[in-house]
Amino acid sequence: MDDTSNGIKFHIDMDSFYSSVEVRENPELQGFPVIVGSDPKNGTGRGVVSTCSYEARKYGISSAMPVSKAYRLCPHAVFLPVNMELYKQVSSRVMNIIKKFSDKFEQVSVDEAYLEIGKTVGNYEDAVRYAQQIKDKIYNYEKLTCSIGIAPNKTIAKIASDFKKPDGLTAIKPEEVENFLSPLPVSKIPGVGKKTNEALDNLGVKTIGDLKNFDVQVLIGKFGKSGLRMYQIAKGIDNREVEEQTEVKSISKEDTFDEDIADPITAEEIIDILSDEVHNSLVKKKYLFKTVTLKLRLDDFTTCTRSKTFVSYRSEAGVIKKESKELMNQFIKNNGNCKFRLLGVEVSKLFKIKDGQTMITDFL
Ligand SMILES: [Mg+2]
Repeated sequence: MDDTSNGIKFHIDMDSFYSSVEVRENPELQGFPVIVGSDPKNGTGRGVVSTCSYEARKYGISSAMPVSKAYRLCPHAVFLPVNMELYKQVSSRVMNIIKKFSDKFEQVSVDEAYLEIGKTVGNYEDAVRYAQQIKDKIYNYEKLTCSIGIAPNKTIAKIASDFKKPDGLTAIKPEEVENFLSPLPVSKIPGVGKKTNEALDNLGVKTIGDLKNFDVQVLIGKFGKSGLRMYQIAKGIDNREVEEQTEVKSISKEDTFDEDIADPITAEEIIDILSDEVHNSLVKKKYLFKTVTLKLRLDDFTTCTRSKTFVSYRSEAGVIKKESKELMNQFIKNNGNCKFRLLGVEVSKLFKIKDGQTMITDFL
């Protein structure tokens, strides 16, 4: 855990996301059972329900149910095809809002994210106020509701976000975890599906409290690793961090010249400058690299790239400079004297340095 973290984790889940977006786009659907999924073909369709509105849930319809069954339960529902392009656009706007509120942000699906806000939020009261601000912002910008769970770890935060849907906000302080979890059915544990639920039921385990008091060896014998995982969750244990994704795939700088460059020494000087710029943003963004790529555009506009990949991660500006120049000189050696219109330096195969980690990879 880094020094800005107080351990409080948030799980945000958009409420019946696909169908809510559809209703927002078609306000005349407001209040109707709306089912997004495969074409029901008057009850003969073979696909499944992706998402359905809360009105549709009242008929017993749920995600992943065969659409033919949903049709039988509620033939007058509005059935719509999945418009993933639209949901992705809305999702990226929502996620951008959430990201701005976060110190650490981990998107887990099109409509779900974990976050940590260690700097601004000191305790659970602050966290609740902060979560309400996030909800308000998303609603003001996108006219969509979400549910937020706040807890000492990711799994409990996820269970908490599901606790009062839609438009819910549930905070579980560390001292409340046991009382919160114990009465819940085991099916509330993420990953416990119909089969596991039945198997646990056969063992007499109905609630998370039952699970916590059960013999862990029997659980491991029956379910393997997942048995241990379930047991730990029942005890309120989950040590997973909010993992920020590496969105940056490469960092590069390039320069196009007014006059083509024929002198290798001048080209080397430019490479030094580009390498320093690349290295600066590498340090600022806290990445290590494995690959250095030199981009060359010749006077006849042909563009070539040459790369070198290291076995281990590197961080030094000197390595970027030396490798880029060697790649250029090798290129000149193979192709004769060239005139360059453009030179570019790029590093890729990046690794994000986590807070507290130091760059001790410079061992060559
Ligand atoms: Mg959702």
